[in-house]
Amino acid sequence: MQVIRPAGAPPEALAAAAARLRSARKAVALTGAGVSVASGIPDFRSAGGLWTVFSPDEYATLEVFHRDPAKAWELYRALGRTLLGRSPNPAHHALAEMERQGLIQGIITQNVDNLHQQAGSTRVFEIHGDHQHLQCLRCGTLVAATAEHYRAAEIPLCPHCAAPLKPNVVLFGEPVRQLAEIHAFIAGCDLLLVAGTSAQVYPAAALPALVRAGGGRLFEFNREPALSPAEHGEVEYLFQGDVGRTLPLLLRACAAG
Ligand code: ZN
Repeated sequence: MQVIRPAGAPPEALAAAAARLRSARKAVALTGAGVSVASGIPDFRSAGGLWTVFSPDEYATLEVFHRDPAKAWELYRALGRTLLGRSPNPAHHALAEMERQGLIQGIITQNVDNLHQQAGSTRVFEIHGDHQHLQCLRCGTLVAATAEHYRAAEIPLCPHCAAPLKPNVVLFGEPVRQLAEIHAFIAGCDLLLVAGTSAQVYPAAALPALVRAGGGRLFEFNREPALSPAEHGEVEYLFQGDVGRTLPLLLRACAAG
């Protein structure tokens, strides 16, 4: 594994990594919470993150939503305050530009904040759903989420069947989204850019090893190395540092080569 840091990146290693990305047949990005931190959305698992204030077991399960939607909505309002009104940062913009230039074919994200799409990415698979809609579990209706939904004291109800709505994000106890599409999409991937995630949570955790098993390569973009050779497979290049600096660094190197 070669380590590339934004300050004093070795030019040969950077050029070689860029050449690898340019020559990839099908490069894909796998993103997580770290990509959105610079947009003002703290990692839910980090100190002060949402899960340290609202225990997931107590608030974020499907069972709690069914039994006590008012309690579940205490968490959903906090989630809304965390996610609404945010803007993409240089990491999102770099990935969107990579797609525009044909360097990557799309993004698989664990984030629900819509910031990849706001940056201009068009092919985004959202494993954990999206926070742009509210969802009725009884009749399947989706309603565009507004700031008012998260400010109001009442629980929003389905316009068709009057059941309580929930954000269209995957709660603990709910199946993840788009799994079949993601597996079809990752087939033939020969380069996976793993950015802002330690890939500890399934199914994202399984994707790096899947790409490696198919002969593909891994680039990691994290502040600290988080992928393990035993679990995820060998990383070829570790871009260590703020993803808002390392992803643009690789993009610029692709243009320079
Ligand atoms: Zn309904």
